[in-house]
Amino acid sequence: MNTDILIVGTGVGGLFGALNLPRDKKILMITKDEIENSDSFLAQGGICMLRGEEDYDSYFEDTMKAGHYENRKESVDIMIRSSREIIKDLIGYGVEFARENGDLAFTREGGHSRPRILFHEDITGREITEKLLAQVKKRDNITILEHTTMVDLVCRDNVCYGAVCRRRDGSLVTVQAKETVLACGGVGGLYEHSTNFPHLTGDGLAVALKHGVRLENIDYVQIHPTTLYSKKPGRRFLISESVRGEGAVLYNAEHKRFVDELLPRDLLSAAIRRQMELDHKPYVWLSMEHIPQEEIKSHFPNIYQKCLEEGYDVTKECIPVVPAQHYFMGGIWVDRDSRTSMEQLYAVGETSCNGVHGANRLASNSLLESLVFAKRCAAKIKSEISGVREDKKVWEELDLSLYSDYDKIKEDYRRSIEQETERMRRHHEQSNYHEAKCG
Ligand SMILES: Cc1cc2nc3c(=O)[nH]c(=O)nc-3n(C[C@H](O)[C@H](O)[C@H](O)COP(=O)(O)OP(=O)(O)OC[C@H]3O[C@@H](n4cnc5c(N)ncnc54)[C@H](O)[C@@H]3O)c2cc1C
Repeated sequence: MNTDILIVGTGVGGLFGALNLPRDKKILMITKDEIENSDSFLAQGGICMLRGEEDYDSYFEDTMKAGHYENRKESVDIMIRSSREIIKDLIGYGVEFARENGDLAFTREGGHSRPRILFHEDITGREITEKLLAQVKKRDNITILEHTTMVDLVCRDNVCYGAVCRRRDGSLVTVQAKETVLACGGVGGLYEHSTNFPHLTGDGLAVALKHGVRLENIDYVQIHPTTLYSKKPGRRFLISESVRGEGAVLYNAEHKRFVDELLPRDLLSAAIRRQMELDHKPYVWLSMEHIPQEEIKSHFPNIYQKCLEEGYDVTKECIPVVPAQHYFMGGIWVDRDSRTSMEQLYAVGETSCNGVHGANRLASNSLLESLVFAKRCAAKIKSEISGVREDKKVWEELDLSLYSDYDKIKEDYRRSIEQETERMRRHHEQSNYHEAKCG
């Protein structure tokens, strides 16, 4: 197959990137699973927006503080400064956010010193992603292929020319592309307990590692403090931070509060784990007793319903919650325009690392970050696509028999990510140790 631009992934990163690319370019989007099965559909709490100039310093500081000041300042500035334009784009595409007396309503989550998060009930991600998808489906120049998995990049001398993909029936298809965008989401599928879809296994990272594309901070993984405790295997259901932002509290086994519920996620997760050890329990309790019943049902209908299905009425009783893997701050290193270290290869969304989140993500910054840098990626591609290189030989020499054992490829990819994660973790440990020693 031939296309101008190949986008691997149909979450918000991929979709918004596609919508911002020129309409006269042929775009192919592929997704490993069904279109609705991306983490973008799962986002509950909301999306941040700079409310006005007077909030800039505070928003910047909150993001930096949550990220342990390891964030790239330039990226944080770009994200915050672009946020109003992005929200305007979304509203233009038909996205509806909660309003109060006709004005946009804002909520607050852990780590934010002020309410600056827009939301749509507790299904903000679904609202945004569905509306973007509807727009993408209207474009004649964009084709989406479901159940089509990128198994490798086709590249030579640090230039990318497309990808090898695998269809649901096991057949292989090659996609020749002038530009390739990796928008493959996070790594939750590599963990036993995660809020992510299990098919999100860091494939972008694995192919980047294989071809020497630069990665950054892939040991920086965020654990969400509050997911619904369950003995069943599979994806963990998230109890959004905004529930705590609206007044939910955490109790230990003796029904006593033990922590500030609005601490940044990493600190709160650590405090919950400590409490679980003290209590000798695999969970702590979360109570919504201070949130009015009508608000629970109107602001958090999805959480209310899901908990009912699991046997808990959150308007009347506490629910057991436990930390689980949730978000991936590291990824494929990209510059301010989402370019990777390989020519003709871009990365956006959770797969990429533009440094916005530093060592820990501030709540509700990730949808925004994905959208801001996907739009910048599209603008860069627009300006560069006419000068791209082609290499006929690389396709003639491609040996597809190397991809016949998919189970082995998956296992190799998993192992290489684990090894690199461990290497980076040790590297971070050593540099922290060095810093501590040398002051
Ligand atoms: C439960 C939950 C709640 C969240 N709540 C919020 C929130 O309130 N606010 C916020 O800002 N963020 C939130 N997040 C984070 C946010 O949803 C994600 O960071 C964001 O949606 C990532 O978008 P993405 O486009 O990078 O990836 P995704 O939406 O995960 O999409 C990844 C895509 O890549 C495809 N893919 C992966 N590998 C391959 C491959 N090899 N070949 C082909 N396709 C592939 C997948 O099929 C999928 O289409 C939440 C996340 C979760 C899990």
